[in-house]
Amino acid sequence: MSNLQEESSGPFRVAIIGGGIGGLFCALSIHHHYQSSSSSSPHVKRGIQIDVYEQAPQYREIGAGVGMGINAARLVHRLGLGPGLIQIAGQRQGTWFTFRRHDDSGEVVVIPDADPEPGDVRQAPCARSDLLELFLGAIRERGAATLHTEKACTGVTVLGGDGENNGVDVDGEGKGGGKVQLRFRDGTSATADVVVGCDGVHSVVRDQFVTDANNKSVESGTIAYRGIVPISALERDWPFDHWSNIWVAKHKHFLAYPITRNTKLNVVAFVTKRLGGGIPINDREGEQNKYKNIRESWSSLCDLSEVVADFAEFDEPVQRIISLMDERPGRWRINDHEPLGRWHFAGGRVVLVGDAAHAMLPHMGAGAGQSVEDGWILGRALAEYLCSSSSKTENRSSSSSTKFQSLESTMQFYQDLRLPRAQRVQAASRVSGNLYELQTEEMNALSYEDSLPVLGEAMLQRMKFVWSEDIDDSYDRMRDGEQQQQQQQQ
Ligand SMILES: Cc1cc2nc3c(=O)[nH]c(=O)nc-3n(C[C@H](O)[C@H](O)[C@H](O)COP(=O)(O)OP(=O)(O)OC[C@H]3O[C@@H](n4cnc5c(N)ncnc54)[C@H](O)[C@@H]3O)c2cc1C
Repeated sequence: MSNLQEESSGPFRVAIIGGGIGGLFCALSIHHHYQSSSSSSPHVKRGIQIDVYEQAPQYREIGAGVGMGINAARLVHRLGLGPGLIQIAGQRQGTWFTFRRHDDSGEVVVIPDADPEPGDVRQAPCARSDLLELFLGAIRERGAATLHTEKACTGVTVLGGDGENNGVDVDGEGKGGGKVQLRFRDGTSATADVVVGCDGVHSVVRDQFVTDANNKSVESGTIAYRGIVPISALERDWPFDHWSNIWVAKHKHFLAYPITRNTKLNVVAFVTKRLGGGIPINDREGEQNKYKNIRESWSSLCDLSEVVADFAEFDEPVQRIISLMDERPGRWRINDHEPLGRWHFAGGRVVLVGDAAHAMLPHMGAGAGQSVEDGWILGRALAEYLCSSSSKTENRSSSSSTKFQSLESTMQFYQDLRLPRAQRVQAASRVSGNLYELQTEEMNALSYEDSLPVLGEAMLQRMKFVWSEDIDDSYDRMRDGEQQQQQQQQ
């Protein structure tokens, strides 16, 4: 028998590893799409059970601001969480960012925000903690998933259809018909029909299944300090009419944008401490060693004096912001990951979502949004697999899409749609980081003054492809394109 629907009794079990933005949104999306598809489908025999396994003792409020482009905000609205999102988001007042000179705040270029869409859908820069809280509240209210804490996954094993342990299928060919067993650090285990690895940049799921040379983190050489400061303390004599600004210097940039209905300013100050490839290093000897032990962690701290020293030559508004930061601001080393060749394994029973699949540098403000797009598409595709007639019978009607015939083809559909786009954003994020720090190959040969127009020109169109794509339209096109081809061939 070729499909899971008739092979097993009991609910179809989805195990999501990691309860960050990607994992929680994925749980909501699978639940949402399954509910709407199953209520109108005569083919559904099994229910669905979604479990989220988070390693931390609680779904903790760590992290500062995360950018949510309009492309991702649209999906949060479609999930019915638009009003909640508006409550927690900052308002960019028509400007995505104004890029400014570091020394006198002179305007380099103003990048307009994406236009709001019907239903008050708009860009939604948020505190990560607020966004997690919004998703957690919706999961609880809807009974969408069972939330587990202190469940650090240490590995998964693909089981055969007869329940026999066939070991890990590192080749990704799958054993057909089987389940997946998850092992946790506390010695417990669980089984599922599908495991979704949403376990972030240090993903154990990815590390188990991707064993080729591409499974490596890439050092960006950049340190980021972060904090959140109250806007009320800055309002008086603030020289600009909006709060989203990036001050640029060679090998440094200082970024601030409003969150939480413009009551708070999210601050991230980037400085390139280590550079390769012949680019000049604005670094003292031995500095490299000093930073070597800063993990790519969201919870490591430093003394404010470091920020003060690194940004001493920046203009007065920056100094005012720094003076309001905590004495112990966050400091982290930002790395991304080489693009992966595939995101699903073991016959589609194991799949990657979010940073586990495409960890990217933060310079397009798009990492959280890309994980939301992943979760949305995975939920839609999985519901189509579970609820369509094609997953019921060997004799599929000719109009049914072969895309959702098996779990493997469903996950391939998800990958075909999401991987190229996410990897385009991943690559663009690297370039953006170098643009903001005036250190692209072209800019390295230029003075500060001569680099600024290059930045201005480059930024004008950069964000459009991220914001303008409606991923549901892309889904329909990919799905229906195939059906049209089938019909033309008949
Ligand atoms: C603590 C934290 C703070 C962050 N703060 C910011 C920020 O201030 N600004 C910003 O732009 N981005 C921040 N990010 C990153 C941003 O949230 C992600 O890039 C983006 O949202 C994609 O989310 P994700 O769900 O794929 O990964 P993540 O947000 O990294 O979530 C992964 C989740 O998986 C859990 N996990 C990891 N390994 C295991 C395991 N083996 N078993 C079970 N659970 C596991 C982690 O605890 C985490 O909750 C932060 C991420 C984390 C984890």
